[in-house]
Amino acid sequence: MTTTKKPFGLTARIVIGMVLGILSGLVLQSLMGKSGDFVLNLALFELSLKSFLVDGVFEVGGQIFIASLKMLVVPLVFVSLICGTCSLQDTTKLGRIGGKAVSLYLLTTAIAISIAMFIALVVSPGEGVNMTTSTSFEAKEAPSLAQVFIQMFPTNPFAAFAQGNMLQVIIFALLFGIAIALSGESGNRIAKMFEDLNVVIMRLVTILMNLAPYGVFCLLAKLFATMDFSVFGNIIKYFFVVFFVLILHGTVTYSVLLKALAGLNPLTFLKKMRDAMLFAFSTSSSNATIPVTMETATKKIGANNAISSFTVPLGATINMDGTAIMQGVATVFIAQVFNVDLTVTDFLTVILTATLASVGTAGVPGVGLIMLAMVLDQVGLPVEGIALIIGVDRLLDMTRTAVNVTGDCMVTTIVAKSEGQLDQDIFNNEKAGQKIEEIDFHHLKD
Ligand code: ASP
Repeated sequence: MTTTKKPFGLTARIVIGMVLGILSGLVLQSLMGKSGDFVLNLALFELSLKSFLVDGVFEVGGQIFIASLKMLVVPLVFVSLICGTCSLQDTTKLGRIGGKAVSLYLLTTAIAISIAMFIALVVSPGEGVNMTTSTSFEAKEAPSLAQVFIQMFPTNPFAAFAQGNMLQVIIFALLFGIAIALSGESGNRIAKMFEDLNVVIMRLVTILMNLAPYGVFCLLAKLFATMDFSVFGNIIKYFFVVFFVLILHGTVTYSVLLKALAGLNPLTFLKKMRDAMLFAFSTSSSNATIPVTMETATKKIGANNAISSFTVPLGATINMDGTAIMQGVATVFIAQVFNVDLTVTDFLTVILTATLASVGTAGVPGVGLIMLAMVLDQVGLPVEGIALIIGVDRLLDMTRTAVNVTGDCMVTTIVAKSEGQLDQDIFNNEKAGQKIEEIDFHHLKD
């Protein structure tokens, strides 16, 4: 067998998978629920569609796809971060890189939520919505800054691996990498082994990315077959305000920052982000998208692994601009619905809590709503207001995750450029990183 060359590129195949998934889901949604109780044959047909396709094939296919992405996250982050740390000539640079990345992550999140609240105040999506709710939603305590710092350090690295606690994995990998770099001959041998491991894991990422079109198809078919569109009615304005600000921030804010701080062409950057955005959109998880984001940052954008292996997983954990946007609009929306006037102090509290709450909260589906509960609690808004927006949150979660991931890569690019670690030839080459679209299995036959 020779190289499997497909007629379409990977991005095109993922988009086809998405579109077919959405269409199949919508067709199934219209087929299911058409029978009255009396039409037995039709009811049986619906039942088999639901149990065989929706809860069977699509559920299994989609969940296996997500699981296989998540499976790679911990080993990939650990191994490539160690390689990155060892390859930095001077490990004291780590502090500077980390400082720049964290400051930019916090800054972009604060900008995102400020824009979101400003636009929400202008548009007033909550006016005229008079919904009452009986569902109660428990707010978790916002973690204190001290707690966030303490919990970054693992008492048991294996527990951190097992629980997928990214901040702890990052800290352990950094320390381990520094120790390797300082260990002379023995360190060199171990570093070589990690470099080889890194090649193998990246290969596995390539293989799994080629399965993405099918995984994405299953995820979206199931989602659209079961989505309740009637909930959109009353809060369509809220939905579109969040959506608009997400697009605005993802295109305009990021472009301005990229141009101003790194002098790079934002259009080239955004084009290169396509695959990562599609993965983020379909999985609703920045964490599960880490393998694709890393691949994009190094192979397509040209950031050195020494930077991206650190800043990408860090961003997936602490940087959630898209989530902050949803929280900003949602806070204003819920305040308007419940006729509460927010003071300037309240707005500042929202910005601070939302920015800090995102630190230490892993990028997984729906986590934004849990963080929103903390934010609402801080400014005394009724947490059960979340019940108003929960129905439309799935689609927004997908979109904001794409923004979150774009933000991670944007900061990675700026930090890499400022450290002289960005390969401009790769950045300017439209085709860079596209070889991952082909898998060559021929040697397995020999
Ligand atoms: N799903 C988002 C992410 O993974 C977090 C959220 O907003 O719920 O980045």
